Amino acid sequence: MSLFRLIANEFDHYADKLAVARIDLVSSVLRKVQPPGFWGEHSSERIFLTFDDGPSPHTTPALLEMLEETGTKATFFLIGQEAERYPQLVESIAQAGHSIGNHSYSHKYLPALGIREIEKQIIRTNTIVQEITGSAPEVFRPPYGMMDARVASCLGEQRLSAIYWTSAPEDWAVPGAHRVTRRVNFKLKGGGIVVLHEGKELGKQTILAAKQIIYACRDKNFELHKVESCLTSESRRITDS
Ligand SMILES: [Zn+2]
Repeated sequence: MSLFRLIANEFDHYADKLAVARIDLVSSVLRKVQPPGFWGEHSSERIFLTFDDGPSPHTTPALLEMLEETGTKATFFLIGQEAERYPQLVESIAQAGHSIGNHSYSHKYLPALGIREIEKQIIRTNTIVQEITGSAPEVFRPPYGMMDARVASCLGEQRLSAIYWTSAPEDWAVPGAHRVTRRVNFKLKGGGIVVLHEGKELGKQTILAAKQIIYACRDKNFELHKVESCLTSESRRITDS
């Protein structure tokens, strides 16, 4: 490896550490101001891998194939209007035994909407998923991680639990699979919830990063589970309160 490449790699390493510290700081502030929800669990050997913004013909089929090959179960937080466009992908996710969460109908910033529109965003997505798979989602991830008391109350009425994250490597900015994996690995701890994204620009990066994260979890003897399994009666109560 050339000296230049070596220095560039070192620089990226510290830039990723800094990115993780910045993301953690934002997450800890959000945790204080957002309505209650699930931010991972303590003292657990489990990791919860989640994919937002699908289904997507650019990522979902290859992602399902990789998850099947590695014997991994994950959670897909789907956008309602994309689920409506690609019902066969939603069906494939459910048939493969993964869990399906609600990520709103059109990925709007929910706190800016009126209550009727908020309800529509949440309920319509639940209905679409239920019509395709036979069961409504139990978990919800707010677009941009942002919700307010009105959103939380609608989730309660729909028996949905809010799921936040412990590791959000900003893969949507397309830093490359290696750097996404490294950002996750810096703080890979039991009970963690990892967020990756689906979408046209993210295809190869998401699949490769997810695969590398799965292997890293195996190396550390973590088991990968669907996110619903982390909802103990205690966390459901916290979310509902
Ligand atoms: Zn999203």
